[in-house]
Amino acid sequence: MAIHDFTSQRLFVPDSLGDGVRFSCTPDQARYLRSVLRLGEGDEILIFNGRDGEWRARLHEAGKRGADLETVALVRPQAGGPDLHYLFAPLKRARLDYMVQKATEMGVSRLVPVVTRHTVAERVNAERMAANAIEAAEQCGVLRVPEVAEPVKLAALIGNWNASRALIFCDEGAEQTSPLAVLATLKPGPLAVLVGPEGGFSPEEREMVRALPQATAVSLGPRIMRADTAAVAALALVNAALVDWR
Ligand code: SAH
Repeated sequence: MAIHDFTSQRLFVPDSLGDGVRFSCTPDQARYLRSVLRLGEGDEILIFNGRDGEWRARLHEAGKRGADLETVALVRPQAGGPDLHYLFAPLKRARLDYMVQKATEMGVSRLVPVVTRHTVAERVNAERMAANAIEAAEQCGVLRVPEVAEPVKLAALIGNWNASRALIFCDEGAEQTSPLAVLATLKPGPLAVLVGPEGGFSPEEREMVRALPQATAVSLGPRIMRADTAAVAALALVNAALVDWR
């Protein structure tokens, strides 16, 4: 594994990237580069867009406040990453921000807010979630930024389930058996992990999810965690058992 460059600053840009690409930064990006990072003419920064890999880019001042960025070299090619959806009952703002950032760091490809009976925050700010995913990707050098889906009700999610995707159901009411043994029975392929709200799943919801042929219920251990803690615990388990070493 290449030694990771944790020191260089990273900036997410929407622009297509390639050899000899030069583009003007938005006013916000220019302010961040020139005033916050205090970069000047000829300074370099790492940039990525989630599609074309990570590039070293050179800053060219444009007037008093503007900035252009010009690609210098490809540093890391775009890596695919696991086909891993993270399905979660939306949480209150600070915990949701945290959970989106951790799921992004854990390499999920798609974030799906799922409205359940005990969900506390029905309205979800997709822009805020996307901004948190980008911030986590910039800080941790994650090259693929997860897509943020529109909220979906649990019944609709289960009712339209894609039969090719395994659903790992984090069930706080699951029988106490090792999740590693359970996960080891799953074949490689598209995955989804489902974690409930602070108030947990209702009995009817638990029954509905368990009835899905693609669903596998797992216990995350004898301790009941908060939903944002469960996100990290579940994704660490799934990555270890089914993703990172397969
Ligand atoms: N009803 C309880 C649990 C909610 S925890 C309460 O209110 O305290 C929130 C979610 O985290 C659960 O729905 C589940 O998806 C997950 N979770 C927490 N601890 C878990 C465990 N030990 N095993 C499986 N899932 C767990």
